[in-house]
Amino acid sequence: MSIQRQSALAPLAEQPGTWWAAIIAEYTATADGIPQQMRRRLAQRLLALTGRVVVEQAIAVDASRRQAIAKVDGVMFQLCDEELSVVRPCAHCGTGRFASAAITNRVRLGYALAVWEPYHPDCAPSDPPDDVSW
Ligand SMILES: [Zn+2]
Repeated sequence: MSIQRQSALAPLAEQPGTWWAAIIAEYTATADGIPQQMRRRLAQRLLALTGRVVVEQAIAVDASRRQAIAKVDGVMFQLCDEELSVVRPCAHCGTGRFASAAITNRVRLGYALAVWEPYHPDCAPSDPPDDVSW
């Protein structure tokens, strides 16, 4: 006796007439252009914020994570969906990747560049011990 695998195991897109198959078809029709759209959006945001032109070929895209990454004069920027952030390693050990709070204007970018320092939980500087000399 053979076990027949039915529609529950078939790819969702191969179930015509369902609402999800229609949505998947719409996504598939536009999916090829998504990396290019993501590169264009990040380049536009960086131009508006920094005045620097970033060629779209220099922008890495991970379409499955909807993430585009570019370096501008050594500063790494990430656009994840519509949220732009600065990406830095841990300020203590220099490893890892941490995304800043959303960069929505030049003031927030200035904060991320000049003040923000990300740390791994174990790398964060501890507060000085309380003064117990009393
Ligand atoms: Zn660290």
